Amino acid sequence: MTSAMLPGLSGLQAGTIYGIGRNYAAHARELNNPVPSRPVIFTKPAGSLTFDGTVHIPPFVKNPHYEAEVVVAIGARGKDITPAEAPEWIAGYGLGIDVTARDIQQQLKEKSHPWFLAKGLDTFAPVSAFVAADQISDPAGLLFTLDVNGERRQNGDTSLMQFPIRELVATLSQYVTLMPGDMIFTGTPEGVGKLNHGDILHASLESGLITLDVEIVHQN
Ligand code: ZN
Repeated sequence: MTSAMLPGLSGLQAGTIYGIGRNYAAHARELNNPVPSRPVIFTKPAGSLTFDGTVHIPPFVKNPHYEAEVVVAIGARGKDITPAEAPEWIAGYGLGIDVTARDIQQQLKEKSHPWFLAKGLDTFAPVSAFVAADQISDPAGLLFTLDVNGERRQNGDTSLMQFPIRELVATLSQYVTLMPGDMIFTGTPEGVGKLNHGDILHASLESGLITLDVEIVHQN
C-alpha cells in the first residue's frame, strides 16, 4: 500500500497521525476523566486513515464512538518549534472522526495500557479534504459541528481547547521531529456517543468551509 496524498494540499503525503486526548474539559468530565496538565498524546497507524467516507466496525467492537475533531496538517520538517512559530509549520486544516472502541479503551485504561487497540483499527481515522492554512485567519476561534443522521450531537469551539493548536504543535515537536504530511487530531468536545450500523455522519467547520461525510458499516 502506498501512502495516501492529503486531499487539498498538493504534494503532501500522509505521515504519522497524532491524537490528543482530553483537550476539551467538558469532554474529559463526561467520561469521568481528569483534565490533564500536559497534553495526552497517542498515535493512529496508517491503516486507520481513510478519505473515502466509510468506517468499518469489526464485530469484536461492541461500543464504537464518534469523536469529531479539527485535524492539523504539518507542512514541513520541524523540531523544538515554539508556539509563536507554530503557524509556519501548519499547511492546512481538516476535520476528522477519531473513531474509538470505547469498550476496549475502558479495558485498556483499567490496566494502564496504551489506547492503541481502541484507536488504531482500520478506517478508524476518516479525514476530510484539507483547506490551506491561509484560508483560516485564526485557528483559535474555529466553530465546528457534528450531526449524526441529521441530529446535532457535537458543537466544537477551538477557543475552548485546554491546549491550543500552537501549543500542541510546539509540545509534540519537543518529543518528536514533525514531518511534512503528519496530522494532529486535536481532541473532541463533549457529546461523544455510540455509532450504529448505517449511521450517516456530517461534520462541518465554519459553516461548510470544511465538511466531512462518513457512513458507518458494522461488519458481520
Ligand atoms: Zn479523540
